[in-house]
Amino acid sequence: MSTKPALSEYRRKRDFDVTPEPSGRPSQAGKKKLAYVIQKHDASHLHYDFRLEWRGVLLSWAIPKGPSLDPSVKRLAAQVEDHPVEYGDFEGVIPEGEYGGGTVMLWDRGTWTPEVPDVDAALAKGELKFTLNGAKLRGSWVLVRTKLGGSAKPQWLLIKHRDQYASTEDIETLKPRSAASKRLMAGIARDARGNVEKAAKADAPPTSSR
Ligand code: MN
Repeated sequence: MSTKPALSEYRRKRDFDVTPEPSGRPSQAGKKKLAYVIQKHDASHLHYDFRLEWRGVLLSWAIPKGPSLDPSVKRLAAQVEDHPVEYGDFEGVIPEGEYGGGTVMLWDRGTWTPEVPDVDAALAKGELKFTLNGAKLRGSWVLVRTKLGGSAKPQWLLIKHRDQYASTEDIETLKPRSAASKRLMAGIARDARGNVEKAAKADAPPTSSR
C-alpha cells in the first residue's frame, strides 16, 4: 500500500497459528522472472486478488468483478496490503472468523514484465503498464490510479490494452477452474473442510450480464 513494501499490515491482520496462509519470509535474491497471480477469493464478498511481485513482495489489488479481456471495460481494483511472495502458492480455505475467511483458488498464475523503464516511478505516478504471461491472462494491460478520494484503499482501474489477446469473452465464466489444481471452488472447499455450499455459489455463473 505504501511505496516502500512491507508486510507488517499483512501479518498484523492474521493469526498464523490458526490460518494456513504463509507468514512470509524475506524472499531469496537472484530470481529472474517476476511472479503474477490472481486468486479467486470467496470472502464476505467474492473478489479476485490481483498480485504482482515487486521488490520481494506481492503488490496486491482486490478486483470485485475480476479482470476483463475487453479493452472498453475498466475494472475497479482496490489496492490492499502487500503480501509475501509465497502467498502466490496458496490455495485452500482460510478459517471462518479469521481475516478474509473463505475459499481461495489459484485462478491464474504466471509471470509479468514491466512495460516501463522505472516501475517505482510508474507506481508513484499511478500508471503502470505491463505484460502478463499467465495461463489465462496474456498480453498488455495497464493499472491506472483514480483520483477518487476519501478511501483508505487507493482505487485503481485494471484495463486490457488492444492486442491479439483482447476479447469480449467472459473469461471468469469460460475458465472457472484453478490454474494450479483444475478444481472448482466447491472442490477446494470440500478438500479443506470449508463451506462447500458457499463456495459452490462462487462457482455459479453470474446472473446479471457484465
Ligand atoms: Mn482477498
